[in-house]
Amino acid sequence: METRTVRQDAAELVRRWVIPGESRVYVLTFGCQQNEADSERLLGLALSLGYGRADSPEDAELILVNTCAIREHAELKALSIIGGFKHVKEKNPRVIIGVCGCMAAEPHRVEDLKRRYPYVSFTLEPAKIACLPTLIAETVQRKKRTFLLPDAPDAVPKIDEGIPVERLSRHKAWVSIMYGCNNFCTYCIVPYVRGRERSRASGEVLSEIEGLVGNGVREITLLGQNVNSYRSDCDFTGLVRRVGEIEGDFRLRFMTSHPKDVSDDLIACFSGVPHLAPHFHLPLQSGSDAILKRMNRHYGVARYRSIVERLRARDPEITLTSDVIVGFPGETDGDFEATLALLREIGFDQVYSFIYSPRRGTPAADYPDQVPPDVSRERMRRLLDLQCEISAEKNRPLVGQTLRVLADGPSPDGTPGVVTGRTAGGKLVHFNAPENVVGQFVNVRIDRADAFALRGTLSE
Ligand code: SF4
Repeated sequence: METRTVRQDAAELVRRWVIPGESRVYVLTFGCQQNEADSERLLGLALSLGYGRADSPEDAELILVNTCAIREHAELKALSIIGGFKHVKEKNPRVIIGVCGCMAAEPHRVEDLKRRYPYVSFTLEPAKIACLPTLIAETVQRKKRTFLLPDAPDAVPKIDEGIPVERLSRHKAWVSIMYGCNNFCTYCIVPYVRGRERSRASGEVLSEIEGLVGNGVREITLLGQNVNSYRSDCDFTGLVRRVGEIEGDFRLRFMTSHPKDVSDDLIACFSGVPHLAPHFHLPLQSGSDAILKRMNRHYGVARYRSIVERLRARDPEITLTSDVIVGFPGETDGDFEATLALLREIGFDQVYSFIYSPRRGTPAADYPDQVPPDVSRERMRRLLDLQCEISAEKNRPLVGQTLRVLADGPSPDGTPGVVTGRTAGGKLVHFNAPENVVGQFVNVRIDRADAFALRGTLSE
């Protein structure tokens, strides 16, 4: 690992290379919330080196592509976009292109980028974001391309505190509390590309949140691959309770949780911890015990069902959302029917469903009984149809109620006078309001509800 002095020297060198007012950085993000949070750190670091922000890659001298490796499709899309940057580099030789994120931690992708994309200057793994100045300095000073070899997955990189963060929202903030994962679900690449679990000290997390709340942030989301296995000087529940003691008008959320690590103590937080939003996102992945076992998930349907019962006993109104994988190797018609039956029984407010995508290097990619794509697609269609009905049913009783909504931003489709926000339970609401409500809590009367969103009117 490079020393602080090496890093500072590199940063100085880059600052001398950057042309004030002209050199700009563009960060393109694929994937999950963790990647969004990492991009805010990449951007913050680049700005601290003197770069300004670019609105497009054509406008930038530093292009950072923060990639996702969770699905084949996301990787191919990133590679195709990186391919398009060849022309940007040809037009302006000062342009530096770096590939960051999970793909940069896959040895075969790093090799591919090195050989087939000669205009890519470096790769940078998620655990090594702090090395960005050094990589730029190597490119600038020695015209050297640097392709970091990923560490062994069981190496535990130290957590770099103090990396500047450029927040993309003024009223919502991701706060990473831990990195990596120890679970090795058989379909998942994360433990190989993000390494072993490591948690930030609670004091660091709490002071970051106090600062954000003091600056008017209204929603804090504690982030990690497996937040409820957080452990430093306290466990996850201890951390949630301590965040609950922070004064201010804000909501607290967390994601993602693992069912095997949900404790009674965590469930109890939903009736009493101030700020904690009544929403639990708890990946189910399958409703079949046989498939859960093959996925190495360490829980069965009975345990999952019992968590849901206990959560609803604490708070009958809690919003429950989940993830489901369709077409995992060996999934029979019977396994899939069991998943549909469990979705009907539990009645999630929303389910994020994915067709299984084999990831090189994971055990499930080598399972012999891969499900044919047309079977997976048909199962996916049936699951989406069912969940659509369930979500609409869950949203319908909200019509006529007045809910407290955090106004997030203008309507995504650009409809004038329409603002989009989220309820405490995390439901999407579109409502008529002036744009100056963005960033505030407002009361919205719900007039209509469908499976994916609520529509309403600003109420006094
Ligand atoms: S818990 Fe499983 S699915 Fe989640 S990041 Fe870890 S290995 Fe991947």
